[in-house]
Amino acid sequence: MLTRQLGRALAAGRGPAARGLATASCAGGESVTIRNDSSELANLSAHFLRAECYCPECRHGATNQRLVDIAASAGVTAHSAAIAEDGSLKVAFSDGHASTFAPRWLELHSRSSEPDGSRLRRISSLAECLEAQGGPALPESQRPLPLDAPPRAPWAAIEEGGSQLAGVLRNFRRHGAVVLEGAATGDDVIERLAQALGGERATHYGARFHVLSKQQPDSLANTGHALGYHTDLPYRAEVPSVQALHCQQSDAEGGLSLLTDGFAAAEQLYKDDPMAFAELACTPLSFCWQGREGVLLRAQRPVIELCQNLTLRAVNFDNRNVRLRLLPESLGGVAGKSLLEAYSALGARIDAPEKTLKFRLEPGEVMMFHNRRLLHGRTAFDASSGARKLHGCYLDMDMIESTERALELQAEGAMTRFDAPDFARGSFWDA
Ligand SMILES: [Zn+2]
Repeated sequence: MLTRQLGRALAAGRGPAARGLATASCAGGESVTIRNDSSELANLSAHFLRAECYCPECRHGATNQRLVDIAASAGVTAHSAAIAEDGSLKVAFSDGHASTFAPRWLELHSRSSEPDGSRLRRISSLAECLEAQGGPALPESQRPLPLDAPPRAPWAAIEEGGSQLAGVLRNFRRHGAVVLEGAATGDDVIERLAQALGGERATHYGARFHVLSKQQPDSLANTGHALGYHTDLPYRAEVPSVQALHCQQSDAEGGLSLLTDGFAAAEQLYKDDPMAFAELACTPLSFCWQGREGVLLRAQRPVIELCQNLTLRAVNFDNRNVRLRLLPESLGGVAGKSLLEAYSALGARIDAPEKTLKFRLEPGEVMMFHNRRLLHGRTAFDASSGARKLHGCYLDMDMIESTERALELQAEGAMTRFDAPDFARGSFWDA
């Protein structure tokens, strides 16, 4: 509430705090209130402040990626708050952590391009539309992700092609993941996979990349840190739709692979708290990456993406690279509070152990998953106990679907290029 006013005051160099006029307090602990003599300038969610702490303990030094788990710090409250001489906000939290927030930081985090109330109106109108149609729809072809073990298929299907490969791709499209077994462990495996499935999608990591513990990591993926559930590259304008990871070595202790179904978590959130779902679907957040000299990537998208007909299109969940917002208008009246609560509510459903797959990817196995629907992660590993080396690439779901269709048509002996006589008897275009 009134965060923008605080931002404007600080931005204009009229920082009341800097002139010793502002005070901070945290009665109740759920939020930190900044006031001057005449009025309240800001009421900031303690959860927001804890999640956004940018000290070296909370941010990974080489990559600036967030180490604090946003959803897990949902219950953290503020014990004390004060404005320092230089105008920065100092907060001590119930988890024992102390943070300092510069005035410029508060200003940057309170910027909003939307007029007051517009976001809240969008949330309530979406909530109404969703209610009228009984909640968000799932893509028609979708089947649940099996939770006892990941769907498996032989690597040989990739080499052989034909209807066997079409079947593997059909199951992959339905369940969102597959582990291909029995590949070799050389660097050419990923290349052959990409060749069979329409080519790699090159990114700032290159056409293909290795995931292993590095001395100079450009991402937390290339350390031994645990990686909580996330989707990859939400900070790209075009998010890669599929990721493939080929296990070349797996001797380190730990480093288990994790998969969970983001659409199932979003559906559960809708059932439990439809307003939280609508808030996540209506609020674009920035995702940023700055892990390497000369590369500064940023994109805005909501955590839950819906198609126009309210079918789930994607979940964007990336604790490390999401930039939270102190929205001036918030459902609960405390800047950032309801958005953070909604985000954490989704996070809790994503983390639900009974809804997740945890397994060791063995050398010669290739895990492939739908990056816009599934979330992946890994447990921490100890690089000194042995090597863990994955080789990966991104792929395009539409090219994989195209491959599946083409293989099916070829199996029937039908043309796969547009052909006028074939068109006359009804074809792909009419389906
Ligand atoms: Zn910190």
